[in-house]
Amino acid sequence: TIQRPNSEQLYDEALQHIVGGVNSPSRSYKAVGGGAPVFMKRGEGAYFWDVDDNRYIDYLAAYGPIITGHAHPHITEAIVRAAQNGTLYGTPTELEIVLARMLKQAIPSLDKVRFVNSGTEAVMTTIRVARAYTKRSKIIKFAGCYHGHSDLVLVAAGSGPSTLGIPDSAGVPASIANEVITVPFNDLAALKAALDRWGDDTAAVMVEPIVGNFGMVMPHEGFLEGLCSLTREAGALVIYDEVISAFRFHYGAAQTYAAFPDRQAIEPDLTALGKIIGGGLPIGAYGGRRAIMEQVAPLGPAYQAGTMAGNPASISAGIACLELLQEPGIYDRMDALAAKLAAGLQAAAKQNGIPLTINQIRGSFSAHFCDHPITNYEESQDTDGELFGKFFKLMLDQGINLAPSKYEAWFMTTAHTEADIDATINAANYAFSRL
Ligand code: PMP
Repeated sequence: TIQRPNSEQLYDEALQHIVGGVNSPSRSYKAVGGGAPVFMKRGEGAYFWDVDDNRYIDYLAAYGPIITGHAHPHITEAIVRAAQNGTLYGTPTELEIVLARMLKQAIPSLDKVRFVNSGTEAVMTTIRVARAYTKRSKIIKFAGCYHGHSDLVLVAAGSGPSTLGIPDSAGVPASIANEVITVPFNDLAALKAALDRWGDDTAAVMVEPIVGNFGMVMPHEGFLEGLCSLTREAGALVIYDEVISAFRFHYGAAQTYAAFPDRQAIEPDLTALGKIIGGGLPIGAYGGRRAIMEQVAPLGPAYQAGTMAGNPASISAGIACLELLQEPGIYDRMDALAAKLAAGLQAAAKQNGIPLTINQIRGSFSAHFCDHPITNYEESQDTDGELFGKFFKLMLDQGINLAPSKYEAWFMTTAHTEADIDATINAANYAFSRL
């Protein structure tokens, strides 16, 4: 098996200088039994090399953005060109218009957009804009949907029927948590009950239209339609957090996905974007209906700004990434690879008597160690984290890099090959046999 003395040494050093040794808690191996996370030094295509020169096939894809593989030359060229012309201007650029047009073309609900620097910022601002527009304060969200780390949405990932929020993080005041109501995903009755009770005070209902944060989970048939109509009846806005879902399943967003034929019935008022639209550099964006977006400064009273927003490197990388994703058949190829890998994992698990539930949506899937379907957060909670932790390490030791989380997705990229998939299935076979 793979040895990683250099990663271990760097982790010891990192712990002395960087809190927890990592710059995002999801990178720590706490959830998979601890130990030094692997320190990578280079990525190319579907592969990573760590500081001990071990090679890994990567399915983390940096939690989603790296859909064309690491260091794609077309994106790298765009970034180099941008850097050579100056990395930050603090003035408008023509590039921003190009990317804004591409987003609007792919996602017609975006009359106007604004670029920011992260998904967190994008979501946070949609909430401010919704509150400014409706002059109401409460937000309804769904248990287990992650919307970044701003105060309002770090509330009550917890279970249960519609409840007022309990903060998920120290430092979120109870007064803010009181503005958030959490209901189970895929449960229109619970949403209706929450709106019956708090609808007059509700500025917006926020949802990942296709969930990426407690597994890959599709909305039940009619869920988004019902969500939109109930929300509008209450005079509130519909906000879609498409930070993961946009450009993940096809060239467009969940709201324009073929699985939802009545597009008008599910169209949101505001959308938050991030990840893929920056081609691997920091980015976020939000947008929506003209009258709502015109609440934003300098046109309206809702303030939002950003020194780094719309920086030429991020915008150029985003344009280059979306250009690549326009290649015909590119999403079908990722879909086929994911289907092959999912089937291989499922067969290998079965052969070894391991319960495994796979939710595949096009080129991504989640694999839960449990024997029942996953359609909401509650159901995802009793999947076997200990078993996953062992599986994770057995895969890592065979050169397969997954997210260290029992319900994070496996992401295909345009760089993965059939041979990578075969190698991964072989590794999984061995890992399952050792569990
Ligand atoms: N929304 C969703 C659906 C996400 O998955 C994430 C990040 N995983 C965010 C928002 C936050 O994005 P960022 O990490 O860029 O702030």
